[in-house]
Amino acid sequence: MVAACVRRLVRVLLKRMNLDFQISKSFAVAMDAKDALAKYRERFHIPKTKTGDDCIYFCGNSLGLQPKSVRAYVEQELQDWETLGVEGHRHARHPWLPYHEFLTGQTARLVGAKPIEVVVMNSLTANLHLMMVSFYRPTLTRHKIVIEASAFPSDQYAVKSQIHFHGFNPSTSLIELSPQPGEDTIRTQDIETLFEKEGETIALIMLGGVNYATGQLFELDRITKAGHAKGCIAGFDLAHAAGNVILKLHEWDVDFAVWCSYKYLNAGPGSVAGCFVHERHANNPDLPRFAGWWGHDKNTRFLMGPDFHFIPGAEGWQLSNPPILPLAALRASMDIFDEAGMEKIRAKSVLLTGYLEFLLEQHRHENFSAVTPRDPLQRGAQLSIRVRRNGRALCERLAARGVICDWREPDIIRAAPAPLYNSFMDVYRFVEIFIEENRLCTLV
Ligand SMILES: *Cc1c(COP(=O)(O)O)cnc(C)c1O
Repeated sequence: MVAACVRRLVRVLLKRMNLDFQISKSFAVAMDAKDALAKYRERFHIPKTKTGDDCIYFCGNSLGLQPKSVRAYVEQELQDWETLGVEGHRHARHPWLPYHEFLTGQTARLVGAKPIEVVVMNSLTANLHLMMVSFYRPTLTRHKIVIEASAFPSDQYAVKSQIHFHGFNPSTSLIELSPQPGEDTIRTQDIETLFEKEGETIALIMLGGVNYATGQLFELDRITKAGHAKGCIAGFDLAHAAGNVILKLHEWDVDFAVWCSYKYLNAGPGSVAGCFVHERHANNPDLPRFAGWWGHDKNTRFLMGPDFHFIPGAEGWQLSNPPILPLAALRASMDIFDEAGMEKIRAKSVLLTGYLEFLLEQHRHENFSAVTPRDPLQRGAQLSIRVRRNGRALCERLAARGVICDWREPDIIRAAPAPLYNSFMDVYRFVEIFIEENRLCTLV
């Protein structure tokens, strides 16, 4: 139902724009002129080339750019610390004791959750482990975890170490999803078939919402539904999905999710991560968990008693009092997301990435092709471009010309136009430079 709504939204947006992309530079200029989000670009620091021009920054899927407002948000906390010391916990302009709560509403809106279902805490891989402590509870008959074969290494390490921790072996307890021979992305139907066949042995589905390598956006609602039908827990790593695509975690009935805030969310290197736990699990005392005092009932936390009483909901998984300075940066960024609105952000993103794909196809060359799904519903901002020869050199040549994207072994250049600060002209220039440099890289 909801997935259908999201699908309809994207279709309507594309249609309303009545779009036929055009190859001319004037098309990019015109698109920028009518872009409702264009004004947000100047609210970010755009890295500069040696000659002082704006770089073409297509790496927001790796590290988002700094909102100019971050400095004031962080300085406020520095100042309160300077003048108040410990009193800042209660008397800072934004008191530090409940500081993470200032982010609850925005975070819930961002991922389609109820406030009780989200919290910002720790970092991504740490949260993934905390979630698996509670939600990966293997038995002799149901002990498998499903992950993409091309999952981000940290996720691979995390799930394998959890399997070992419980005395099982990844060789028999890990199912790695791969595309069919000759294909680049994974069919939802194949995942459903797997669950039908082996669902009773699967304890946990743990996929990246958007695969970091291919840019494939998984159909999280369908996968969750098919998994639940077989009694599996469905958890997702949304590192590349949060702030990138529309998420409806509550309605999709996802069990848990984790994400970081430094990619599309622009909260700065290593900033505080996010976590979702479905309301269904909010009050379950039987879930094992690793506890810390920040997850303890707020009314009695400072009585310093020895017995742990968790806060109902995602907050109950917190361990420590959180780092306020990165949370301040996250607030600055989330204020921008709230102001711009995720639906508008996604709508522009569909166009930007579609335009990037269109221009690359107009300049088709045997040396490169995109592996990311063509369907806008099955991808976010990123296009993963397979380069057959001299890909790494090509990526370096792009960097030398102020085009920042990244290289993933063995043959992928990832390019992600971020709708809050990238323009249609960025896309136009990117393709122009990409084509020139590709030609130079393939001359010999
Ligand atoms: C970026 C990313 C990570 C990084 O993990 P950290 O704990 O934040 O260092 C992990 N998993 C995925 C899928 C990622 O995209």
